[in-house]
Amino acid sequence: TAKRADERGYRLFELTMQEATQRRRLLEVDLRRACMREDFQIAYQPVIDSATGAFTGAEALLRWTCPKRGNVQPSEFIPVAEELGLISRIGAMVLKKACIDAASWPGHLDLAVNISPVQLLDPRLPQTVFQALEDSGFPAARLELEITETALLGNDEIVMRTLTELRDFGIRISLDDFGTGYSSLSYLHRFPINRIKIDKSFVQQLPADAGSASIVRAIAQLGQSLQMKITAEGIETDEQMAFIAEHGCDDVQGFLISRPIDADKIIGLFQRETSKAAA
Ligand code: C2E
Ligand code: MG
Ligand code: MG
Ligand code: MG
Repeated sequence: TAKRADERGYRLFELTMQEATQRRRLLEVDLRRACMREDFQIAYQPVIDSATGAFTGAEALLRWTCPKRGNVQPSEFIPVAEELGLISRIGAMVLKKACIDAASWPGHLDLAVNISPVQLLDPRLPQTVFQALEDSGFPAARLELEITETALLGNDEIVMRTLTELRDFGIRISLDDFGTGYSSLSYLHRFPINRIKIDKSFVQQLPADAGSASIVRAIAQLGQSLQMKITAEGIETDEQMAFIAEHGCDDVQGFLISRPIDADKIIGLFQRETSKAAA
């Protein structure tokens, strides 16, 4: 009967829910343990100048290899770390380790570090950043923090205070994944923002998709008129690269240039370029 089928459906639903809850609890346990042991790595993805092809720096990207699960994607574990209240601690670790690594890069190269919206609302963030700079000797003027549009929404006062404090210290702020979050364009000039990173979902539709092409052009123009730098992320093909270079994006990041690689590899890459330039 229909009622039986309903009951069976409900039973299955309950089992699936239980399984999901169980899986999630196990993930939480593993993540807490990794956090306690600071058992994370950082990969670095190089960024180049779209006009010259020269490196301008790299973005630090968090990596977690769980002994049981293998590599877990940031998109899977970062939201959990945020909910569990672990992200400020993990973020502090990323800042410190990335600044230490970047302190041995050639002096013209910048370091970008992602900051979760939860970290941005933590009043201790500026102190954490200053501490990482002090411990590593990495200069504030070469550090960029990447925040998202959504993080600016509805928290004007605290976010403004934090961003202003960071700016006064010489640190630059980028708006990551631009075009995908909730934001109002008025944020762009109200907050001290130095750079816009055009989200890869637009870039990856280039050059064929007319809508994405218009959006990329419009963002690049907006950035230029507000005197911000523009980065295009997620460049995978020569055609995308050509479009971006032609339409006023300053910097480029994507698998076409390099995937995220480990700290030893990136320094090798940077040193080879520097010695080639000197030769
Ligand atoms: P994001 O900051 O926008 O970083 C760029 C993401 O795009 C990275 O994914 C990178 O590997 C990927 N990517 C770069 N070039 C290409 C490309 O050409 N094609 C494709 N398909 N993908 C490309 P990843 O490392 O998985 O990180 C995902 C997101 O996780 C990041 O997006 C960032 O929002 C977050 N995340 C990563 N590390 C941290 C961290 O230390 N702290 C915080 N709060 N978030 C982080
Ligand atoms: Mg980023
Ligand atoms: Mg990015
Ligand atoms: Mg992004």
